[in-house]
Amino acid sequence: APVEAKPRLTLKLCEPRGFCAGVDRAIQIVVLALKKYGAPVYVRHEIVHNKYVVDGLRDMGAVFVKELTEVPDDGQPVVFSAHGVPKSVPARAEARDMFYLDATCPLVSKVHKQGLRHVKLGRHVLLIGHAGHPEVVGTLGQLPEGSVTLIETEEDVAAFEPADASALGFITQTTLSVDDTAGVVNALMAKFPELSAPSSESICYATTNRQDAVKVAAEGTDLFVVVGAPNSSNSKRLVEVAKRFGAKDAILVESERDIPWGEIADGARLALSAGASAPDILIDAIIEKARQGFDVDLEIVQTAEENELFPVMRALRDTPLTPA
Ligand code: SF4
Repeated sequence: APVEAKPRLTLKLCEPRGFCAGVDRAIQIVVLALKKYGAPVYVRHEIVHNKYVVDGLRDMGAVFVKELTEVPDDGQPVVFSAHGVPKSVPARAEARDMFYLDATCPLVSKVHKQGLRHVKLGRHVLLIGHAGHPEVVGTLGQLPEGSVTLIETEEDVAAFEPADASALGFITQTTLSVDDTAGVVNALMAKFPELSAPSSESICYATTNRQDAVKVAAEGTDLFVVVGAPNSSNSKRLVEVAKRFGAKDAILVESERDIPWGEIADGARLALSAGASAPDILIDAIIEKARQGFDVDLEIVQTAEENELFPVMRALRDTPLTPA
């Protein structure tokens, strides 16, 4: 008997997507620290915003804590997350003689340095970013008190009245929407013509590349699926970009289970990407599931090639790798 034909599905897969070099490095730091020093390895905050990754590391012996006060003085290492930390965190660790490994992404550290440079040059710093995000908490806490103001929107620009409009500099969170940020920066430039920008863009390459691929893939899709955690800034931005660039609908999912498979019509066009903290295994599972229910026509939408690789600190690089 003839096999009943499956409904058809076009699946556009964005490239680049998923893990960036900063996330990859942060995970490696925890894994290598576990190999070298044994369990437990304490990790302050989610090392990256992804439950699958965090659960996997916990199974290997990582212990996630909110604050250093929860870490006992047992000599085991404590890792700071990829998002960066306020200056007070390493200071407290040093005061307690703790052994810490800083997994702050080098591109976040670069923003910290740009901010400090503004301060050194006598400028008040405007940090464009989202209140409460760990990267923003970290960056604010890198700069002297009173030297920085958080700007979230163009309305914040309108409301901001500096003491000296001729001595202002700005920096941004690394995972913002490229287009929204351009709007805020333009509003700042219009209001404060003497504003000093960072020497280069502080939205990172991974954020920019993922948004670019989503822009191209979004057009004409019925559903755009972004894999990422609900608290992942760069993933949420991808959903917004997809909607803005022509996807009829766009959703953030943590796994294949969150996709409304039953509502997908014959001949539908789906697109798929993942935030910088989402591992490809979650994408593979979605493709696999799609193939079970549909006759899938897979299209790769590639807009950039990424070769970035951020090496881990020397102390861990010299670790002989023993099979797990
Ligand atoms: Fe670094 Fe960008 Fe990845 Fe954040 S998203 S960890 S800044 S490379």
